[in-house]
Amino acid sequence: MTTGRAYLDWNASAPLLPQARAAMLAAMEVAGNPSSIHAEGRAARAIVEQARAEVAALVGGDPDGVVFTSGATEAANALLQHQDAHDRVFFAGEDHPPQGPAIFLEIEHACVLGALMGPSTGTGGLLPMRVRASGLIELAELESAFELWVKLGVEVRRPRIVAQLANNETGIIQDIPAIAAAAHAKGGYLICDAVQGPGKLTIDMTTHGADAIFLSAHKFGGPKGVGAIVFNGAARLQNPLVKGGGQERGNRGGTENVIGIAGMGAAAKAVREAGDPSETMRQLHDHFEKELKRIAPDVHVVGRNSPRLANTSCFAIPGILAEQALIALDLDGIALSSGSACSSGKVKASHVLKAMGEHDFVRAGALRLSIGPTTTLDDIEKCLMSLERLVKRRKAAA
Ligand code: PLP
Repeated sequence: MTTGRAYLDWNASAPLLPQARAAMLAAMEVAGNPSSIHAEGRAARAIVEQARAEVAALVGGDPDGVVFTSGATEAANALLQHQDAHDRVFFAGEDHPPQGPAIFLEIEHACVLGALMGPSTGTGGLLPMRVRASGLIELAELESAFELWVKLGVEVRRPRIVAQLANNETGIIQDIPAIAAAAHAKGGYLICDAVQGPGKLTIDMTTHGADAIFLSAHKFGGPKGVGAIVFNGAARLQNPLVKGGGQERGNRGGTENVIGIAGMGAAAKAVREAGDPSETMRQLHDHFEKELKRIAPDVHVVGRNSPRLANTSCFAIPGILAEQALIALDLDGIALSSGSACSSGKVKASHVLKAMGEHDFVRAGALRLSIGPTTTLDDIEKCLMSLERLVKRRKAAA
């Protein structure tokens, strides 16, 4: 057994890439404000614009559509919080901002749910979409949801759909192109939480079809506390969440976080240049789940038959509680997660597993292993050994 720790919680936060670190150190030396016109200011501006181009390139977007934020949570709030009776997103060429119900997946991340639920839900109303036991939505239900809304007498003008690309807890991937097509067929638009995408699968906004996506740098090797909205086409924020000096082309006030943005841009470049890492991760992941089944034949793997990220395994072993397992694993030098680690410091019941109708034992015992391109077989073996000890202890206690 190796002495180092095995960090297997990449969906919570990925280790900082050396390229991001180097870019941030270089950015720290630049004194200027990106809004200043002198040479120092222009140097800071160049860093921000370089990063903007890299973030756009990572997702096949247009640099003009990139708005830097303090992370995905701010991006979700900027896009989804209603302002009076209107949505915040505005499509150029329209004289009115769009208005209508927000249809969202009930398994969205807390930042999306929180942004939609308050402080004002607007006049359009909210409609949560059920997921099946597979963790996926039924497209036909989405289509009939629009009709139901009209029958209820709600005026539907450009309804918005909010759908995540991949779930942070289970890794289950939604069919975003199909959801985007359904939204567009009704004259609506799609906002997609693509946070768990970069570094795990390729995103191409032109084929995915979402009208806006949002990202968080620390999920793909950038620093924590910086993220971005990427608009596809002409949509913009008509009423910015963070008002101020008109930075980010009027979409987000405040002096840009030049250091964080530099790190995000460098991470985006590194991830794009590294190409699709899913094959290597898939091998480790499949090995893990195969061996886990050998150690604990009664293990339940969430979303086993659904399209899943190559890096994520959410599982529960009957008789082993998540909290106990996390402590034992941590003592053995293994960092795993349970529930949604980035929304709480402690283990709490998962709304995602509940929505999928998972059994009580799964909800009480679900653990999440999430790996990255630098995870080794040794890390996986170390985790399996620790889990095997837990299973033996469970047997002994029975
Ligand atoms: N969306 C998803 C799917 C996430 O996994 C997370 C964080 O775990 C977020 C949004 C929020 O990201 P941040 O905390 O960086 O704002």
